[in-house]
Amino acid sequence: MRFSEFNFHPTLLEGIEASGYENATPVQEQVIPIIMNGRDLIASAQTGTGKTAAFLLPMMNHLISNNHGSKVSGVIIVPTRELAIQIGQVIEGLSYFTSISSIAIYGGSDGQNFVAEKKALQTGADIVVCTPGRLLAHLKMGYVKFDAIQFLVLDEADRMLDMGFQDDINTIISHLPTKRQTLLFSATMPEKIRRLAKNILHTPAEINIAISKPPEKIVQQAYIIFEPQKLPLVKHLLQNTPHRSAVVFCGRKQDVKQLTRELHHAKLKVAEIHSDLEQFQREEVLQAFTSGRIPIIIATDILSRGIDIDTIDLVINYDVPSDEEDYVHRIGRTARAEADGIAMTLVSESDQSRFADIEHLLGKQVEKVSVPEQFGTTPLYQPSTKKRSSGYGGNNKQRNFRNKNFNRR
Ligand code: AMP
Repeated sequence: MRFSEFNFHPTLLEGIEASGYENATPVQEQVIPIIMNGRDLIASAQTGTGKTAAFLLPMMNHLISNNHGSKVSGVIIVPTRELAIQIGQVIEGLSYFTSISSIAIYGGSDGQNFVAEKKALQTGADIVVCTPGRLLAHLKMGYVKFDAIQFLVLDEADRMLDMGFQDDINTIISHLPTKRQTLLFSATMPEKIRRLAKNILHTPAEINIAISKPPEKIVQQAYIIFEPQKLPLVKHLLQNTPHRSAVVFCGRKQDVKQLTRELHHAKLKVAEIHSDLEQFQREEVLQAFTSGRIPIIIATDILSRGIDIDTIDLVINYDVPSDEEDYVHRIGRTARAEADGIAMTLVSESDQSRFADIEHLLGKQVEKVSVPEQFGTTPLYQPSTKKRSSGYGGNNKQRNFRNKNFNRR
């Protein structure tokens, strides 16, 4: 579905186009009409589904089309400063051709920022994106007027409750008008989220765009190692784990090429698949793999979706994919049909926090297997609790958006 079908204001459509979006994602297709109809919403959707624009666009469209001015109209509460910054940047991009103003308010920044935040809250930035603690600090000073709030968004609500923000959220909500539209997004829907929803939402529509979980029968294991240990370990695993056919995934094609060369040297029968190969070359490799002539393929994520080869009983992630959904797709290449499968992930120090995000999505810890002694000492698994940024990419024009001041008015 194209964005032009949503009946958005032309200035917003310009921002959407300049942000590089063409078609709405599935979550946007479902969520945008509900919000435009003025209903409350509870949605289970993970990062990576396009959920941010799904709640921002209808909210911004409403603000453009209706009077917005000297008071804060929308509050978006998020668990971490990284997410607040990221959402602030998305607003900047999408609102570039509109008169909407916004500010991101988060803890840990200096006193000067506090003053700018205070000014934005007093003069009425249209949209405030904030972490709960920092907003509370402002609220306690008494100058914040939230009587004109029309939208409240709680993003990553499960994470906020896990981080102990329940009371702060309740206090913030007590400052908001009861007549408002409330939107709650959460990756998971435990009972405590349902209870919160019951208290703060009014006959909400419910949407579930959860990323599918991998089948239970796939045995998942992780090796916590240092980056230089990856190559010797992957050789060892391929040589010592019985398998019919195996796929080793790497995020980057350079790594696929290099690993293929190294494994050739180690006398393993391997072939590579990545986007530098012509379609017919990829088909030849897949043919050799399906027929069993080549038992191991080294591939980028172009192979992580869609291929259905029942003999794959081993998947090794040479690195941790940057997208949780890619992990689910990668390991789903094994244990097809009735077969069993094992998925091993090599987690270097820089991979740790991404792997923790994947475990969060899976709702469980993946078994950490000890590395054989000959590989030497290994790091501890100590992922940072900060949510990684999904990285607002884009071209130069899009990046220029981000240089604009948050507080434009
Ligand atoms: P989110 O799930 O909101 O974190 O979004 C994930 C990524 O998808 C972000 O980098 C967005 O900029 C991007 N994105 C969101 N909506 C679209 C769309 N309709 N088309 C292309 N990219 C999008």
